[in-house]
Amino acid sequence: MRLSYRICSAVAIFVSVLATASAQTAVDSIWSARYVVTMDSARRVIENGAVAVAGDHIVDVGTRAAIDKAYRAPRRVDRPEAILAPGLINTHTHAAMSLFRGVADDLKLQQWLQKFIFPAEAKNVNRDFVEWGTRLALAEMALSGTTTYTDMYYFEDTVAQVTKQAGLRGVLGQTVIGFPAPDYKTPQASLVATEKFMQMYANDPLIVPAVAPHAIYTVPDDILKLCRALANRYQKPLVIHLDETKTEHDEALAKRKKTPTAALDALGVLSGWTVAAHAVWVTDADIAILRMHGTGLAHNPSSNMKLASGVAPVVKILRFGISMGLGTDGVAGSNNDHDMMEEMDLAAKLQKVSTGDPEALPAEQAFAMATITGARAAARQHHRLARKE
Ligand SMILES: [Zn+2]
Repeated sequence: MRLSYRICSAVAIFVSVLATASAQTAVDSIWSARYVVTMDSARRVIENGAVAVAGDHIVDVGTRAAIDKAYRAPRRVDRPEAILAPGLINTHTHAAMSLFRGVADDLKLQQWLQKFIFPAEAKNVNRDFVEWGTRLALAEMALSGTTTYTDMYYFEDTVAQVTKQAGLRGVLGQTVIGFPAPDYKTPQASLVATEKFMQMYANDPLIVPAVAPHAIYTVPDDILKLCRALANRYQKPLVIHLDETKTEHDEALAKRKKTPTAALDALGVLSGWTVAAHAVWVTDADIAILRMHGTGLAHNPSSNMKLASGVAPVVKILRFGISMGLGTDGVAGSNNDHDMMEEMDLAAKLQKVSTGDPEALPAEQAFAMATITGARAAARQHHRLARKE
C-alpha cells in the first residue's frame, strides 16, 4: 500500500514536470537581474525581473518567476545584483577620431577644425587609421553600455566591417565635404562611393548606411541637394551637423538671410529621413520646421560645453515632440571619451543650470534620451514601431 502510494506520487510528480516542460516555450537565453528597466510605454521597472531572448529578438519581459514558468532556455545569465537595461544609443560621433584624442584642446570650433583637425586628418587618415580608430571606439562604447551609434566619418565601408565584427549596430554616414577629403578628393566622388555603400548594406541587420554632408558651411548647396536626393532614392538617412555654433548661425543669417535650419529647409535638405547633430542655436520657428520634417536630433552636452558652443534648448525641443537623443561627438577636442553615462549626467545638469529650474530634464527623461528617444532620433523605423505602442 505504502509502496504503491509512493509509485503513484512519483508518477504524478513526473507527469506534472512533463506538463510544465511542454507548456514552456523554448527560447535561446534567459537573462535575469535585480531590476529590469524596460523603457516601454509604461516605463516599467521590474524588481527580480527577467528577459527571454530568441535569436536577435526579446520575446518577453516580466518577473523572473513568470519568465521561468513560461520559458526554458539552454543558456542563462543570472545577475541578482545587477540592473538590466536597454542598450545606450550614441546618436552622434566620429568613432575613428578616438586616435586623435588629446590632439588639440581648449580651442574654438572653427580654429580647432581649420588649424588642427582638418590638417591632421589630411596627413594621417587612411583606411588603416579608420579601422583601428573605430575598433578602439567600439570597445570603449561597448564597455560603457552603448549598443548602437550614429557615425560621420571617412571610409565608412571599413567602419561598417569593424562594426559588424564588434556586433554593434551603426547608422554610418559617409562624409561628403566641399574640399579634398582623406578618402575622396571631390564631393562628387564621395557621392558615387556613398551610393555603392548604400547598395552594399541595403538590407543589413546591423548597418544602416547613410550620407553625411558635413555641414551647411562646408558643403556647396548643389552637393547638399544631391546628398538629399541620394538618401531618398535609397530610403536611407542623411546625417549632418546643424546650427552648432553662434558663428554658423550668424554667418547663415548674414549670407543667406536665413537661419541654418531655414536655409536647409529651403534647399529641400530636410525633406526625408534626417539625423542632425547639435541644434544649439535653433529658434522657435526652426524647431517647428524640424518637427514638421520629423528630423531626429542629437544633443552633445560634453562637446557643446567643451567648445563653448552654447546650450541647446533641449527641454523646449522635447516639449515640441521632437526625438532628440544624446551623443558624445568626436573623441578629439569636442569630447575626450564615448561615455554615454556622462552625457546623461551633463545633459540633465546643463538644462537645470541654464533654465534655473532643478526640475528640468529629470533623470527618467535623460535616460529616455539615451535609449528610446535616441533610437527614434537615429532610426525612423524604430520611430514608427515605437509610435504603434
Ligand atoms: Zn560632430
